[in-house]
Amino acid sequence: MLRKILTQAPSRRLISSGFPPLFTKSTISPFSSVSSSPEPPSSESNTVEQPGTTISVDRSALYNPPDHSHESTPDSELVKHLKSVIKFRGGPISVAEYMEEVLTNPKAGFYMNRDVFGAQGDFITSPEVSQMFGEMIGVWTVCLWEQMGRPQRVNLVELGPGRGTLMADLLRGTSKFRNFTESLHIHLVECSPALQKLQHQNLKCTDESSSEKQAISSLAGTPVHWHATLEEVPSGVPTLIIAHEFYDALPVHQFQKTSRGWCEKMVDIGEDSKFRFVLSPQPTPAALYLMKRCIWATPEEREKLEHVEISPKSMDLTQEMAKRIGSDGGGALIIDYGMNAIISDSLQAIRKHKFVNILDDPGSADLSAYVDFPSIKHSAEEASENVSVHGPMTQSQFLGSLGINFRVDALLQNCNDEQAESLRAGYWQLVGDGEAPFWEGPDEQTPIGMGTRYLATAIVNKNQGIPAPFQ
Ligand code: SAH
Repeated sequence: MLRKILTQAPSRRLISSGFPPLFTKSTISPFSSVSSSPEPPSSESNTVEQPGTTISVDRSALYNPPDHSHESTPDSELVKHLKSVIKFRGGPISVAEYMEEVLTNPKAGFYMNRDVFGAQGDFITSPEVSQMFGEMIGVWTVCLWEQMGRPQRVNLVELGPGRGTLMADLLRGTSKFRNFTESLHIHLVECSPALQKLQHQNLKCTDESSSEKQAISSLAGTPVHWHATLEEVPSGVPTLIIAHEFYDALPVHQFQKTSRGWCEKMVDIGEDSKFRFVLSPQPTPAALYLMKRCIWATPEEREKLEHVEISPKSMDLTQEMAKRIGSDGGGALIIDYGMNAIISDSLQAIRKHKFVNILDDPGSADLSAYVDFPSIKHSAEEASENVSVHGPMTQSQFLGSLGINFRVDALLQNCNDEQAESLRAGYWQLVGDGEAPFWEGPDEQTPIGMGTRYLATAIVNKNQGIPAPFQ
């Protein structure tokens, strides 16, 4: 069934398998056998030195995914790098460190040197599906700007803008609101030099100075700046932040409950020289975040916990966002696939629109994980008393309440048959649930709705009241 969904829907987000998570407990049963093993052989244990901590690592928990490639191909630069990190440390690395290297290693990270989006790439996202997505986010930002009292200067920050399509559609869609667009300074937080170039092109930028990190978008005459992190974006100005499909790319740590307590899943090199998963027999430093996350879990969740996935980077980022919004005013909109619940085990790898093994040919496939929405809410509330968190609500409710139905009707008035079909398919993909019932084209191109798998949440300064459409 999963394979069928994969080949039917040529998109990363359309094809995610839904809940429960992809890799079920039975898939990682070797861990269970480790946890029930009274004493792992000591010859297979190793020691990792971390600042102030000594962590023994149990190398006996070999995990052999069924579809792992066994062909012996020469190691890529990234594989060599990961192996040298593991060897240099004298032991395995966390799944989070592996994920971070795979996605953002400056030389060979998945995002760093190419365009990974669209039919020719590895996956497709909502802004690439239809212009209506960016336009609706534009409606959201204008509404919040109104609630902020129409400030004359606003930092509009987008985290992980991909090709820049969402921002381009937002600027085109809001161009009639001159006071709004004239107030904007756009700040794009992007780690990939290749994607920064594409963003520059798609926003029709002309360089303002010799600096490549600063330009003017001719779409609305707006200044555009590029940064590697949110911390680099100047503060002290009311701020609107958009994070679409950004959180799912932030590294996650994975834990499993065993008879020894909570053990962290780590990535090691097996005797066959391939990567494999092992479990740490003792708590690791990331367990501090695990404990924090478990305190936020509901009593029902806590009772059932066997596996937990946490993203300390997401928690820290949310705190930074909340502090900024709490002191400077404004708000953030986060849209991603995820759950309004603690996440157990969701990390997945997608290459050329197909799910592949997480450890296979790192750097050639996207790695992403479900976003833990309660953790965003608690992190924001903990960081600033001046912010309130709203939602999550489904993408379908969010776009519907902002008026996407009116927008699609307006666009359908002025288009030919082919454009109308593409608009209807795009509309379904953004707000529908499952396969489009109206589809008469080839089965493999059936539009799959992501309206309920994606959730939207907002963090706003309390002075702004409740943001649309969360009232
Ligand atoms: N928002 C876009 C792209 C989503 S893919 C869309 O919806 O189409 C994730 C984006 O985040 C890419 O642009 C990727 O290069 C960027 N990214 C991933 N990890 C990052 C990090 N740690 N710092 C900055 N940018 C990052």
